Amino acid sequence: MQIHIYKHDGEYIFETTPIISETKTEALTIKIEHSPYLDIIRETGSKKLAKIFVESFKHSLDFKKDVQKGDTLVMVYEQKYRLGKPFSMPELKTAMIEMKGKRNYIYLNSDERFYNESGNEIEYFLLANPVKSARISSVFTKRRFHPVLQKYRAHLGVDYAAGRGTPISAAGAGVISFIGSSRGYGNLIKIQHTDGYLTLYAHQNSFRKGIKRGSSVKQGQVIGYVGSTGLSTGPHLHFGLYKDNQAIDPLRVVQVTTKKLTGKERNAFFKLKANYDESINLHLKNETKFVRISMPDNVCYFFDGESCVQDKLDSDS
Ligand SMILES: [Zn+2]
Repeated sequence: MQIHIYKHDGEYIFETTPIISETKTEALTIKIEHSPYLDIIRETGSKKLAKIFVESFKHSLDFKKDVQKGDTLVMVYEQKYRLGKPFSMPELKTAMIEMKGKRNYIYLNSDERFYNESGNEIEYFLLANPVKSARISSVFTKRRFHPVLQKYRAHLGVDYAAGRGTPISAAGAGVISFIGSSRGYGNLIKIQHTDGYLTLYAHQNSFRKGIKRGSSVKQGQVIGYVGSTGLSTGPHLHFGLYKDNQAIDPLRVVQVTTKKLTGKERNAFFKLKANYDESINLHLKNETKFVRISMPDNVCYFFDGESCVQDKLDSDS
């Protein structure tokens, strides 16, 4: 319910508006003029639609390099509507983009993960293990007993126990944003990645020669060596992951392999895929265009006592 309280002639008025939503499956095809992102916005006026399309292909395709004018894309998605206006993020169900004569597909499976046409999961922000064959000695938690400080505090990272001098490698490609000494973390390196991700490597014995602030590093490139500097009881790597300055559990993101479907799951996926392929082919054939929702402007959903208050519901901002 949307609750609306306002003052009218010295009295407070209380109103509620039920929030009823319906979900529609929609589709569109676009001939690319500039880039998938810009063309989807041009066609639909929706940054959200452009974003879900580009994000889903981001790690498997290089639009900048391979998209040419005249290439085609199709997307099928679900959109929620409230009071006739789209709201919340649309959900991409399936999409296809033809680049250099090759069709590339993506399908949302029943497990809510995206798979390609071979039934392999699409890789997202893929972090490699920062220390090879090391034992995890402490996991991410908002509360744990700290062995040095002898009190409970959050442990916003993962500890890998490893011998002094064991090479530490960059979990992902990025730029060194900090290299130096810190009191608690000892010898510390921070790497800034794309999309607001940052990784942190603490208690290092020493840094790799030549690595400095502003250096670009590749995934898997050695940046330093395991040690016990700072507040530490023994040689280990404290590995932290942040997204927009919020600590997140690296083990939820560190993926060594992506999921491959087998057996029943695989059969179910290929059934779903066959339906999606049929849908994509149909939209390609019909050159399905995006349908703009036109709102009647004589409808007032909110009356503030004197006049109609437009746009109280956030739609596509
Ligand atoms: Zn730690």
